[in-house]
Amino acid sequence: MAIEQLYDLYLQHPVISTDTRKIALGSLFFALKGDKFDANTFAAQALEAGAAYAIIDDAAYRTSEKTILVDDVLSTLQDLARYHRKQLQIPVIGLTGTNGKTTTKELINAVLSQQFNTLATAGNLNNHIGVPLTMLSINSSHQIAVIEMGANHQKEIELLCTIAQPTHGLITNVGKAHLEGFGGVEGVKKGKGELYDYLKANGGIAFVNSDSNDLLIMQESRNLENVIYYGKQSFLNTIDGNLLQNTPYLAIQWMVKEKEAPSYEVNSHLTGEYNLPNILAAICIGHYFKLSPVEINAGIEGYQPQNNRSQIVKTATNTLICDYYNANPSSMIVAIANLNKMQAEHKVMILGDMFEMGAEAAAEHKAVIEAALAVPADQHIFVGAEFYRQQANFKGTFYPTAEEAMNSIKARPVHHATVLIKGSRGMALERLVPLF
Ligand code: ATP
Ligand code: MG
Repeated sequence: MAIEQLYDLYLQHPVISTDTRKIALGSLFFALKGDKFDANTFAAQALEAGAAYAIIDDAAYRTSEKTILVDDVLSTLQDLARYHRKQLQIPVIGLTGTNGKTTTKELINAVLSQQFNTLATAGNLNNHIGVPLTMLSINSSHQIAVIEMGANHQKEIELLCTIAQPTHGLITNVGKAHLEGFGGVEGVKKGKGELYDYLKANGGIAFVNSDSNDLLIMQESRNLENVIYYGKQSFLNTIDGNLLQNTPYLAIQWMVKEKEAPSYEVNSHLTGEYNLPNILAAICIGHYFKLSPVEINAGIEGYQPQNNRSQIVKTATNTLICDYYNANPSSMIVAIANLNKMQAEHKVMILGDMFEMGAEAAAEHKAVIEAALAVPADQHIFVGAEFYRQQANFKGTFYPTAEEAMNSIKARPVHHATVLIKGSRGMALERLVPLF
């Protein structure tokens, strides 16, 4: 089926389903393949559950006139999203970076939605499937889209840009994550830089954190025409900002760089000094889209993280820094530095293994242990096989599994402490939360 024909069907059935457990009535079911499943086998089930059509790529499952056979379901989904994007005359802000994409996306959305009907990536749907699904959830009532783009190897952002076709872009930062797939930090810069390449080739506008030398070099080497800078303080900046407080929430002062311009203060519900650039990015984009300082601040102040990223949770006796959504060397180091700066009677840190580190795993876990032990705390607890392997050389407490860490914490409960909990997603350190 030609993409134009499929697009006509989509206009009549503008909801996409990919999971037979959650079929929306009258939706288009795309039979994607995963590592462990082939959704072609679920096509009939999807139609029974109420899907209007099922898009399949295995003729053996062509059971009714409601099945549409294509060469490849995934690339058809991506083509449909591309085609849809072309019909939309709205700004699309594409975000990538090593850390802080979701947080910054949420902040930008919180700000822009003060004035616009926005569509932002739901949760972390930022990959080759999530981005097309997100694009296909944009409808004619939306005025701006904020699209998170994740990558763990080269050419992924390039592909996602062809789908989202961002008019504006932001790389939050470049650091150490997915080192295996990217081939080291230089590989990360190249891979994330594909967003700048796209903006350059298409006359897009980049928002750049002037405090990041890496981003400055990446921008300058491409010589982008349209750049708007933000950061702590630089003659380059349109928006300057600095930290007022981090106890435990971040309060920020910011100003538009104009002669005799006033400064503004905003209280966020995020912790971690590393969120300063994330907040400034949202302020900068809000200002660019002509929101007033009052609207911008209302957006920032209204954003309460519920997603285990830089989230403070107060229990009966402890203050938890819930940052266990994920971890990599860059975000570990800044989270540890943040705990170091916090005022607290007692401090405990519980750090879990970082995944996808490839050949760097031993060295990076060792570096995190060293950084952690350099920060005074009542307890330094390291959890997971990689950390456990290092234990002989260090004085912290090491457990090979979260279960063992939990048993030990149960035996010696923690009270009146600020507790940092952080590890890779696969460590599922949220299991520890009820112990505090
Ligand atoms: P993912 O790759 O899982 O999509 P992400 O880039 O969307 O991650 P977030 O989920 O927003 O990032 O944040 C994950 C963690 O990264 C935070 O909990 C925090 O520890 C850290 N982080 C957030 N912003 C920054 C930043 N600007 N610099 C360094 N670390 C950061
Ligand atoms: Mg994310």
